[in-house]
Amino acid sequence: MADSLRYAETMPPVFTLTAGPVDAYPEVLRALGTTVLYDYDPAFQAFYQEVSRKAQSVMGVDTPPMILQGEPVLGLEAAAASLIAKDDVVLNLASGVYGKGFGYWAARYAKRVEEIEVAYDDCIDPETVRRYLTEHPEIAVVCVCHHDTPSGTINDIDAIGAIVAEAGALLIVDAVSSFGGMPTSPAACKAGVYVTGPNKCLGCPPSLSLVAVSDAAWAKIEANPHAPFASMLSLKDWRHAWKETEAFPFTPSVAEINGLNAALDRYMDEGADRVWARHALTAAACRAGIQAMGLSLWAVREEIASPTTTAVRMPEGVDAAPVMAEARARYGVSLSAGRAETLGRLIRIGHMGPTAQPIYALIAVAALGGALKAQGVDIDLAAGMAAVQIRIDAA
Ligand SMILES: *Cc1c(COP(=O)(O)O)cnc(C)c1O
Repeated sequence: MADSLRYAETMPPVFTLTAGPVDAYPEVLRALGTTVLYDYDPAFQAFYQEVSRKAQSVMGVDTPPMILQGEPVLGLEAAAASLIAKDDVVLNLASGVYGKGFGYWAARYAKRVEEIEVAYDDCIDPETVRRYLTEHPEIAVVCVCHHDTPSGTINDIDAIGAIVAEAGALLIVDAVSSFGGMPTSPAACKAGVYVTGPNKCLGCPPSLSLVAVSDAAWAKIEANPHAPFASMLSLKDWRHAWKETEAFPFTPSVAEINGLNAALDRYMDEGADRVWARHALTAAACRAGIQAMGLSLWAVREEIASPTTTAVRMPEGVDAAPVMAEARARYGVSLSAGRAETLGRLIRIGHMGPTAQPIYALIAVAALGGALKAQGVDIDLAAGMAAVQIRIDAA
């Protein structure tokens, strides 16, 4: 390929097929550029209430979720700080980098953190959780990451949630990169605190957290004397902010609320079932192509591979970084690396929001396959591309 045709790092990519941040929907980008109202103007207060109600409806909860003013790491840290009290024993479930990381936050607030950890290409067996909780009735809070994005693997949080509820403990769920891209809700996994955000499958830029809290979790938070208040980490401050009668504790991110509104409208207009189906098909087509090329998924079993991200295991002796750089330079396609333990060992293709369209699986497989070939890796690119198309057309 002629040097002049390659994409310089300073040029924007042609396709951003990353695992978050992701491309935002055009409707969202337009909304971000609309009028920024004064937060105490009655028009904004009514609008905020309406957006809160839409978020409530999309999340399937009884009261509106809290909209915190920072990307979902804020929601996750706030969940740990608010729900976990000083004398709590916490069970953290770690099947990847995010799950493991939550344990460090939990340790800041808990008396003790216990952990069930599995290999980062596998998932947590709910029966292991059941046995653990039976043997350790002192556990008050369990923490789990639904889709551990750096591994592209899914934990069965609905099964885990049922077990945690039966044991009388409360569950904190990180559903940041799954919510809006597959069937999942706070009710289905009986979450105490369920954290997500609009910046993955809902197709917004990174900016806000959406946090749903159950009645039982509120009772525990209200009884926790150390739960943050008058703080950016506070859930308590925002509990009633959506109500007409309440003031905002701090200025809400008005422009981002405009963007969130557009994303929620788009999601509801298309219909959740259709949105989930195109995420699932894009991922299934991508997996078919990856395997037909002669590559392996990172996930030990295809059943646990995420519908919102495909993590591709690098062949023995192949480092992911030069392959990703080649895909970017040769085709203008931006892909995601691993994180921490998975860094260098896999490449991730995101199927989130606007890029969860089946035809993007073809682009991803073409770019990844072409880059690997250019790096001297022997793969069957044509077989991979054919498999993607066959899978799409069979749907
Ligand atoms: C994206 C994401 C978050 C938010 O964290 P960042 O690293 O700041 O993007 C949290 N949890 C999961 C599982 C995520 O995918």
